[in-house]
Amino acid sequence: MKKNYDADFKTYLKDYPTADGRFGQYGGAYLPDELVPAFKEISEAYRTICHSAKFISELRRIRRDFQGRPTPLYHAERLSRLFGTTQIYLKREDLNHTGAHKLNHCMGEGLLAKYMGKKKLICETGAGQHGVALATAAAYFGVECDVYMGEVDIEKQAPNVSRMKLLGAKVIPVGHGLKTLKEAVDAAFEGYMKEYKDAIYCIGSAVGPHPFPMMIRDFQMVVGVEAKEQFLNMTGILPDAVIASVGGGSNAIGVFSAFLDEPVEIYGVEAMGRGAGLGDNAASITFGKKGIMHAFESIMLKDKNGEPAPVYSIASGLDYPSVGPEHAHLKDLGRVVYDSVTDDEALTAFYKLCRHEGIIPALESSHALAYAIRVAEEKRHDAVLVNLSGRGDKDMDYIIENYGYGEKFLKNQNGNRLS
Ligand SMILES: *Cc1c(COP(=O)(O)O)cnc(C)c1O
Repeated sequence: MKKNYDADFKTYLKDYPTADGRFGQYGGAYLPDELVPAFKEISEAYRTICHSAKFISELRRIRRDFQGRPTPLYHAERLSRLFGTTQIYLKREDLNHTGAHKLNHCMGEGLLAKYMGKKKLICETGAGQHGVALATAAAYFGVECDVYMGEVDIEKQAPNVSRMKLLGAKVIPVGHGLKTLKEAVDAAFEGYMKEYKDAIYCIGSAVGPHPFPMMIRDFQMVVGVEAKEQFLNMTGILPDAVIASVGGGSNAIGVFSAFLDEPVEIYGVEAMGRGAGLGDNAASITFGKKGIMHAFESIMLKDKNGEPAPVYSIASGLDYPSVGPEHAHLKDLGRVVYDSVTDDEALTAFYKLCRHEGIIPALESSHALAYAIRVAEEKRHDAVLVNLSGRGDKDMDYIIENYGYGEKFLKNQNGNRLS
């Protein structure tokens, strides 16, 4: 394979992040003074605990007995046949307990909290997916869970609010500003500042101040490690390309990190939403600039005042105006190609996977799948691995109400191909 990057990735995972949490020009921790000791405590605890045999074996047991790992690798033969000769393989994170990859890092964060003697997990949530995963971890470890959520989101995401409450979490409504994710982040930080001695803040993606981008990568790497071994067992070779959707970047970094040092093309797929205008997409790497928000430095979408810009995607898990600092760095290094797909392309992939494989994917995962379809149509690669990050039950009602059962999307797209 022709390499489009110069760097050698043999020692990459050891070299990055640096001790102060930098990935090249990005990362770090830009914290209010009061929180510096709290994050230092998390950093130091993680550095020792993550090497302990007890921690590692307990996490392995949880993954096997509670989460149902390893999740399968699946060769989507009928889907592949629609687009030519490229073979599409799916890493089935939708079959992970709670229906998405997010539980991989939430169980890691919960176990760390337990080792640190913390009594409470704190987070914010937008669509409620992270809140549900963290509430699950809190129930498992027998600790309290405070989930900060904008009032607008609470109304929109009623089923996830019910799930969190059933699992024993306290959902704390945030009623100022736009009453959505941004305000919830601020409120969760404030809540954490008041009780960081007894609580731990659990970030929901490979974002935030150091050490979170590193910890989330470590906890999600199980996806890539499993997929690589499964792919080799199934086919005898490695895939030509690995594809994942990028919101904050946790499912993507999890699968990418196992392939960085292999002759495999890697693609991160952002949400192009309705189009290229500011506020119409969430393609932070595609359109963003360097900047600091939510206490870390990365590439972000800014409005004309330099504030985080409004973002949009049909997939609520992708609408974040920045991206994990490691993705910004991997872009700089040229190791990962970041590209984007629109709402319509994601919907087409969604309906095709339902109809041709009997799998209802999350809209976020449908972005990765849509890119695999594009790669197949362009005959770019022979075999591609897609991280199917989650299942689509959460999206079904919205999709059916707005787009029906997909007749329009299941028809041949460009008039040049039958499906
Ligand atoms: C939250 C979510 C994403 C996006 O988050 P990342 O941190 O970028 O992985 C993708 N897929 C699913 C199913 C999600 O719930």
